[in-house]
Amino acid sequence: MTSFREFCRICKIIEETAGSLDMTGLVSELFSLVTSEELPIVTHFVMGEVFPAWTDKEVGLGTGILINALSRSSGLSIKEIEDIVRETGDIGKTTVKALGKVSKGQVTFSSFLDSPAELSIMEVFERFRDIAHATGKGSQTSKIKHLQYLFNSASVEEVSYIARLAIEDMRIGVGEGIVRDAIAKAFNVPVASVERGYMLTNDMGLVAVTAKEGGNEALLNLGLQVGRPIKLMLAQVTPDIETAIRELGVVAAEWKFDGARVQIHKKGDTVTLYSRRLENITGSLPDIVSAVKTAVKADSAILDGEAVAIDEDGRPKPFQEILKRFRRKYDVQNKVRHIPLTLNLFDIMYLNGDSLIELPLQKRREFLVSSIGDSDLVHVDNQLITSDISQINCMYEQALQAGHEGIMIKNPGSPYSPGKRGKNWLKKKPVMETLDLVVIGAEWGYGRRTSFLGSFALACHDPETGRFLSVGKVATGISDEQLAELTELFREHIISESGTSVEIRPHILFEVAFEEIQKSTNYGSGYALRFPRLVRVRDDKSLEEADTLERLEDMYRTQRK
Ligand code: AMP
Repeated sequence: MTSFREFCRICKIIEETAGSLDMTGLVSELFSLVTSEELPIVTHFVMGEVFPAWTDKEVGLGTGILINALSRSSGLSIKEIEDIVRETGDIGKTTVKALGKVSKGQVTFSSFLDSPAELSIMEVFERFRDIAHATGKGSQTSKIKHLQYLFNSASVEEVSYIARLAIEDMRIGVGEGIVRDAIAKAFNVPVASVERGYMLTNDMGLVAVTAKEGGNEALLNLGLQVGRPIKLMLAQVTPDIETAIRELGVVAAEWKFDGARVQIHKKGDTVTLYSRRLENITGSLPDIVSAVKTAVKADSAILDGEAVAIDEDGRPKPFQEILKRFRRKYDVQNKVRHIPLTLNLFDIMYLNGDSLIELPLQKRREFLVSSIGDSDLVHVDNQLITSDISQINCMYEQALQAGHEGIMIKNPGSPYSPGKRGKNWLKKKPVMETLDLVVIGAEWGYGRRTSFLGSFALACHDPETGRFLSVGKVATGISDEQLAELTELFREHIISESGTSVEIRPHILFEVAFEEIQKSTNYGSGYALRFPRLVRVRDDKSLEEADTLERLEDMYRTQRK
């Protein structure tokens, strides 16, 4: 059994290391050190997760509960703790400082005791699991008690990581890229096999333990499983239809529906739905669940599609309306009535026990069409196989006239590549290119907007380190009503405040339009956006889908030409 203290010792060294190669080495040492039982947990912990994102389990601790528990463990008032958060700007440092101030009589920091009982990694995980399981009446008190237990049993080196895990923000700079390379290094398996396993199972913990126990062979045996979401295939922008035809020859063109992505898993009578972020959203969409049960004839299947909210005229409602359905936990039936959804299926990855992802799109399409029966809510829309530009242009115009976003131009011979944004799926939309950026901070407003957050600080993503690099702020394109909604959305993710500035835990993406990208020394990325404007909140997208520094550099270069 490995102690949590040992885990924290290595995390501290990783936190102080800058180069990604060195970090990979350290993470790989950590992976080699722990037992098979601890390995999946440690894999998630280093990335700031307690449970894999695809399960519907979450710790569910906001900063508020954490501060409350800290106040009880330290004897300091909530106000005093909030002051320390403001001063240190970090929940981990706050925890160390607050508990360090504890009066002599209080029981805390086990290191102050004569023989500190060491917390094990498993014990910390089990406490977080109990916290996640606490629901309903009295759950708040029980969550606080578990946290207090952890704080009171931990040493000074450990409390800061307990606090960071509690809000699932480790801040040691370890992202998926480093974890992937570290698994390969620790268990002597090819990086490509680790990557493949991850794309198919969406669970780095499972991939790590598979590599450790069964090596490359076991990794290559990892496959699709109904009930475990796989990474979605993604699309690249094409500047125009001609370029797409030149690149692909004969193409499969489809409408690009204006809705939100859904991955559908069906096994017998059990249907599970996942969002684009691969979060379990089954409970929010009972109408889609029952429509899938009747429309999908296969006994087991994994399908890909777009949920669309249609208004009385048959046109798609704004994206934000659909998200109201996706986020819904309470009063679901009411929302089902007010925002009815339809489902447009465009791919199938698994059918009656067989994986279809290696098959060409055209073949998958045949399976898709033959697996879906008549239904008012579930459709497989038209697909055009052609190299005739005028036919595709015509389809593009029709899609736009119907209120959808544009078209998808796909390679009919291509496999389904989980997690890949390649040239086999191209998207053509009329709007100017936008960037999807992570919100990392905000400012409290002034005048009538004092109680609202505004002027949101944005950052792009560095996939290797998982770090976010700032690119400026957006304050335009946001209505008063939206400011209120955004303030609510971000409140739980505030990490620290200083004056009117607020630091926000990276969690939500904004799609931002702008006039130009400029070089700038003011921001971590080295770039700034000219006249940025919020197009929409992309809380359907995961953090890893934020645009990268590389894309910013590319866009900067192209606009110069
Ligand atoms: P974007 O969100 O701009 O990256 O565009 C890709 C998204 O378009 C996918 O993730 C789907 O949610 C959506 N989409 C709509 N219609 C289709 C389609 N026919 N094929 C694939 N994706 C589609």
